[in-house]
Amino acid sequence: MIIVMKAPTDEQVDLVVRKIKEFGLDANISRGTERTVIGAIGDERKLDQELFESLPGVEQALHIVKPYKIVAREWHKEDTVIDIKGIPLGGKEIQIISGPCSVETQAQMDLSAQGVKAAGSRLMRGGAFKPRTSPYSFQGTGVEGLDIFRKAADKQGLPIVTELMDVRQLDAFLEYGVDVIQIGTRNMQNFDLLKEVGKVNVPIILKRGMSATISEWLMAAEYIAAGGNHNIIFCERGIRTFETYYRNVLDVTAIAVLKKETHLPVIVDPSHAGGKAWMVPALSRAAIAAGADGLLVEMHPNPCEAWCDADQALNPQELINLMAELRGIAHVIGREIL
Ligand code: PEP
Ligand code: MN
Repeated sequence: MIIVMKAPTDEQVDLVVRKIKEFGLDANISRGTERTVIGAIGDERKLDQELFESLPGVEQALHIVKPYKIVAREWHKEDTVIDIKGIPLGGKEIQIISGPCSVETQAQMDLSAQGVKAAGSRLMRGGAFKPRTSPYSFQGTGVEGLDIFRKAADKQGLPIVTELMDVRQLDAFLEYGVDVIQIGTRNMQNFDLLKEVGKVNVPIILKRGMSATISEWLMAAEYIAAGGNHNIIFCERGIRTFETYYRNVLDVTAIAVLKKETHLPVIVDPSHAGGKAWMVPALSRAAIAAGADGLLVEMHPNPCEAWCDADQALNPQELINLMAELRGIAHVIGREIL
């Protein structure tokens, strides 16, 4: 059961928690700005809905219909619009986040940021810590990469999106003012990491695990939300199937399903889905047409020199061309790309 309280006092919250414990269940408190949501964990059949609704400060007590709560549209009908340094994500305006797979050098990031800006993309991506399949591959430039990224993006006034792999790096992310923390496909169910990013006040991009079901993905987001951080962006990046022609299969269906199940924004990464630069425009068009709120696209100033994922990066001119095409599609479906 979950108990929704509207601007409750500490005493009102304590009373609800005490009642839950009297029935032998545990309570999980998630404080939002307007509402506090208390989850009763255990055999909820023991709990009486009317009893909880009679307690002061309680707006609603409901038996769980679905295992996820805070992220569910059931609980929050309107689309959530996340504000990233004044840039809205999740509303009418579609955001294209672009930049290289990895932070390499200051010169490469400066050129990348210029390319991002020239295309009209309003947010920049780049990985300083890289989750590589082989331990002998380039592992990322680490904290130095965060510094390089911040400097390059600041020159163009771009908020930065970068992947967090380990909670030990979180302080550095906060120190460099990372604007959006990305949780990669390999960490979608790293529950301890999800709990930690649930405590910070930074929007999170939660990529879909490469073999994760929609329900597992929603539950992973619920881990973040349960900690109090409700600024979560889902990112479909392709799933693993029997097909080997391309890197992953972009699950376009997931966009429609998520838009129904959650009020949170949904974006698509066409680069890691297809794994080839030539596929990126087609997959991007499909994603926008299907209702995605944004894209996460890899672009490198000189793709054939990229230290990671060279084959799937657009060059700066290709990003400009793609943005122009996508503006047309956005317009047709009543949305816009600035
Ligand atoms: C990335 O975006 O840099 C990345 C590693 O993506 P994914 O986690 O989807 O593989
Ligand atoms: Mn990559």
